[in-house]
Amino acid sequence: MGKWVKEIALGGALALLVLAVILGFDLTVFLFPLSIAALGAMVVSSRGGLGPRFSTASLATGESSAVPAVTFSDIGGQETAKREFLEALTFLKDSVRTRQLGIRPLKGVLLVGPPGTGKTLMAKAAANYTGSAFVAASGSQFVQMYAGVGAGRVRQLFKQARALAERQSKTSAIVFIDEIEVLGPKRGKNTSHMEYDQTLNELLTQMDGVESEHKVQVLVVGATNRADLLDPALLRPGRFDRIVQVDLPDKAGRLHILKIHAASKPLADDVSLETVAAETHGFSGAHLESLLNEAAICALRDGRSEINQSDLRDATEKVMLGERSSRTLSKEERQRVAYHEVGHAVISELVRPGSVASITIVSRNRALGFIRQSQDDQYLYTKDQLLQAIQVYVAGAVMEEMVFGQRSTGAANDIEQAVDLAKRMVFSGLSPLGIVSPDLPAAGLSTTIAQIIKEQEEAVEVRLTGRKQEIEAITRRLLEEESMGGEDFRALLQRKRVS
Ligand code: ADP
Repeated sequence: MGKWVKEIALGGALALLVLAVILGFDLTVFLFPLSIAALGAMVVSSRGGLGPRFSTASLATGESSAVPAVTFSDIGGQETAKREFLEALTFLKDSVRTRQLGIRPLKGVLLVGPPGTGKTLMAKAAANYTGSAFVAASGSQFVQMYAGVGAGRVRQLFKQARALAERQSKTSAIVFIDEIEVLGPKRGKNTSHMEYDQTLNELLTQMDGVESEHKVQVLVVGATNRADLLDPALLRPGRFDRIVQVDLPDKAGRLHILKIHAASKPLADDVSLETVAAETHGFSGAHLESLLNEAAICALRDGRSEINQSDLRDATEKVMLGERSSRTLSKEERQRVAYHEVGHAVISELVRPGSVASITIVSRNRALGFIRQSQDDQYLYTKDQLLQAIQVYVAGAVMEEMVFGQRSTGAANDIEQAVDLAKRMVFSGLSPLGIVSPDLPAAGLSTTIAQIIKEQEEAVEVRLTGRKQEIEAITRRLLEEESMGGEDFRALLQRKRVS
């Protein structure tokens, strides 16, 4: 009935318009309000279409439409993590046999490790390997000020995963939730509002409902760097009962990752990815990917068609410390920085020959200069090794004092690191105090730390005093050239010592 009335009214209006044009009326005056009205109608209709529904596109990352192209062979290092994860995926890959054996389906795998180590890559590779649909979301997307929104989003995500699998004719789906600690923190801790609790409860309900009888099996893969913040309910059997540690890569892992990302890049003959791997201790996979990209940008900027070792060195420093800064130091400041860095380098080389990868007085971000050391993977430190590391840290300040008669604020960060190491010695029972209780009084701790550091400063002074000539030559060169590779540095240190 209403439809009829509308159509008659519209027809009438149109007839009137035609009549007006025939009679010579100027209609342009109506056009502006009409177009505004039309625009308004369009906006209203599009909002009407999307408004009441929850937009899943904003929740999932948009990668849900196809199986991610990542495979496990695109993931470098992480051999143990990959093995454990693959093992956990057997139930999806071989669901018939798993069911025959009466194995309870795995509902969740938690990947724990620092950012950029390849957790997202692993989840995508898992979807590829098991032929599952893939949807991804981040914990922070669920947490809202309004009660019930987060829980609704969790439900929506699982629904979306199942629907996608059905559309793609798949029997399984992987729901990847990054930063899951935001979504599932310990319940009752957020007293300000109960939203977190409701969201977590919904996740648990959804995971509990992920039964093997469902047409589509859903595996939840969570990623976090803080498993300690998670509600214990999430870690109970039947939920995230597989925890896979995804650590920063060791040297072999870094080399593997570098090789994967360098495969698509032209490298010059002088490039040694082994050297880069040795000099990038503490880098994640994401850092290494970025390093190669920055190196390629360096080559492009210089108009070269291949990446050389110097590009890689520059890129390593950029990823480690950020962009070169444009600040200008006074002549004396520059000299002070140079001597300071040479002090670190000489002691580093003396306590661990071959350890200096580069020295530079090009300032980047907050660092006015720095040395890079190549470092083997090491999980235990002896007392001597800790004392040597303290010597390297204090050498900059000691050198400044020897040359300029005074130290400067430039050593603040070094001192902090040296104090940390000395503290570690005390609580590992490696200090003159022997074994101590964790509640050692602050005064006793402080005196012991000061004593350890003072002794190392004295030892450093003796070592540096014996190499004044070499230090002068190296510092002169550093002031001229701003940066020096480890080999050049060693050549100068050796040459002077022989003569
Ligand atoms: P996470 O989820 O652990 O924060 P991602 O999986 O998102 O880390 O990694 C970000 C990027 O870093 C990847 O797209 C890839 O380019 C690179 N990357 C990280 N780890 C690895 C790895 N183990 N092997 C190869 N590339 C890696």
